[in-house]
Amino acid sequence: MKIGVLALQGAFAEHVQMLKSLGVEAVEIRQRRDFVPDMRGVILPGGESTVMGMLLHKLGLFEPLRKALVAGLPAFGTCAGLILMAKESEDSPRRHLCVLDVTLRRHGFGRQINSFKTEGEFAGCGQIPLVFIRGPYITGVGAGVEVLASAKNRIVAVRQKNLLGTAFHPELTPDSRVHEYFLNMCSGAG
Ligand code: GLN
Repeated sequence: MKIGVLALQGAFAEHVQMLKSLGVEAVEIRQRRDFVPDMRGVILPGGESTVMGMLLHKLGLFEPLRKALVAGLPAFGTCAGLILMAKESEDSPRRHLCVLDVTLRRHGFGRQINSFKTEGEFAGCGQIPLVFIRGPYITGVGAGVEVLASAKNRIVAVRQKNLLGTAFHPELTPDSRVHEYFLNMCSGAG
């Protein structure tokens, strides 16, 4: 199974590493021609959503990616990747792919708390480590969105059909269960 990892900026190498450790072929997407139809899913990493959004446009990747997600390609966005997929942000005028029916606070866990680590229940996976780095939290979800995890009384992981989003960074922990959850989505098993 081939999974694309958007590799324009941010924490993509850790996702590539995690996929490799699970025996999956990871393809780094750096330009338009890397985004090929035989991918079974795509990971949008953490980093800086404004920069990644600008680069997606500049490289001609924005529309092909948005269309693929709308057409059902499984996607997993972590932190900035979640921000890229979200329909709306309460504290930022910027909108990006607008495919995931959630409202979030982009700097929700950002300015005051910055980074922290905790643990929490992830639906179907049990108790997992949750690492936040200036992350967002979700303040509202649409009817088709399932809440998968919460932390500090905030929603921090959701799924809407083919789209999985986490405000935290499972790729920065040795725990591979969230990636395995995503790979099940990609193989049609989840
Ligand atoms: N707050 C960052 C943004 O707006 C996301 C931080 C992260 O991905 N660790 O893109």
